[in-house]
Amino acid sequence: MATTTNPFSLSLSKNSADIFSRVPNPPNSVSLRSAFVSPGSNDLSLIRGQNSVVSASRVRSVRICASSAQVMDQSVAKTDSKVPVIVDVNLGDRSYPIYIGSGLLDQPHLLQRHVHGKRVLVVTNNTVGPIYLDKVVEALTKGNPNVSVESVILPDGEKYKDMDTLMKIFDKAIESRLDRRCTFVALGGGVIGDMCGFAAASFLRGVNFIQIPTTVMAQVDSSVGGKTGINHRLGKNLIGAFYQPQCVLIDTDTLNTLPDRELASGLAEVIKYGLIRDAEFFEWQERNIQALMSRDPSALAYAIKRSCENKAEVVSLDEKEGGLRATLNLGHTFGHAIETGVGYGLWLHGEAVAAGMVMAVDLSRRLGWIDDSIVKRVHNILTQAKLPTAPAQTMTVEMFKSVMAVDKKVADGLLRLILLKGPLGNCVFTGDYDRKAVDETLRAFCKS
Ligand code: NAD
Repeated sequence: MATTTNPFSLSLSKNSADIFSRVPNPPNSVSLRSAFVSPGSNDLSLIRGQNSVVSASRVRSVRICASSAQVMDQSVAKTDSKVPVIVDVNLGDRSYPIYIGSGLLDQPHLLQRHVHGKRVLVVTNNTVGPIYLDKVVEALTKGNPNVSVESVILPDGEKYKDMDTLMKIFDKAIESRLDRRCTFVALGGGVIGDMCGFAAASFLRGVNFIQIPTTVMAQVDSSVGGKTGINHRLGKNLIGAFYQPQCVLIDTDTLNTLPDRELASGLAEVIKYGLIRDAEFFEWQERNIQALMSRDPSALAYAIKRSCENKAEVVSLDEKEGGLRATLNLGHTFGHAIETGVGYGLWLHGEAVAAGMVMAVDLSRRLGWIDDSIVKRVHNILTQAKLPTAPAQTMTVEMFKSVMAVDKKVADGLLRLILLKGPLGNCVFTGDYDRKAVDETLRAFCKS
């Protein structure tokens, strides 16, 4: 298993110390729940979530409705790892299951029931393909000789999440004479999932696709919810489509080969769910962060399930990001600026999001919307997860401003941000904040 040292430990201490010299003893925080958009408003007002429901199981599975977001074990239960947990994403006729468990790639029926037609194109990259492609082809074809599988192996990396690389998927599909009844399968992390999904959305105006995410980032976030796309040199994910998969199959065993730095990057999104809408989950993370970092299988499975429940619930309520779904982007506006500013691929997505969350939290505190204890807890958990707590030292105020100006959350020239407000687990998506506070935050984190 690859191990990577934390590349941020030196460069971050100055800013961190700066922020935390102001932190008094934390009072206890009280939990409210998720946010909801008021029509026609720039603001989200806070509402309580729905009560939990765990519905009847499928054959040999534990099924959880997306609306069950309040179910919360305080301990990590040891379950039969071969039995998939199923989290449903409820979107009417575009609903689909997320299967979560160990050894799921050894259960061909899970995948095969979602394959449409007889032709499959697996999209993967030159890191994941050599490890898992044969296994996936076996899962797609075992006992199913009528299905033929093609594959396209893309170069690995965020910098290849572009139009040229996307074309390689179309080249393969067209050369293989795939028709509308084919199924695309994304095998890899978020980059592959986003590109394969966008290719599936646009090939012949839309073919079926399946997500097999193999990073924590993809398993807890990017494979769920149907956001697909590629980057433009002026900004991340600016070209894309909402397009839902037929299913998401999360075989947690694939994480065994994931480098430590990638694991930590994915945990940034796990931490995000706690901060924006699930205080109990955040508290669980605080207690279990070392278990997560040391890859305790039960802790990871629980964190993935809980994250998928949160994401599925939000997506079910607001598929096309009318408001509520935007709250999943806590820290992403600052984070995308970092990713674009330092160059795609140098910082991992989750690392940029982690630093971005610290900046969003700093701004929330400057606005007087949260107390200092939350600032401190965010810093503590990110540090324990070996994630950065400040942007790259090369980032300037102007670099932030120029990238933030083309953020997808700009509406009518107004940049709306996701900020924490109130007790832990509450946030707002708003354009109604003091611009001076943003400048203060940028100046606090940038040398120039
Ligand atoms: P990634 O896809 O680049 O994967 C990270 C690295 O891990 C790559 O080198 C990959 O080849 C390797 N890898 C993947 N699985 C592996 C495994 N099991 N074993 C060994 N190596 C493995 O990065 P990511 O963090 O998974 O995803 C980041 C991307 O996801 C970004 O482009 C981001 O914009 C996107 N994203 C999309 C959404 C969405 O809603 N669509 C949400 C969050 C992030």
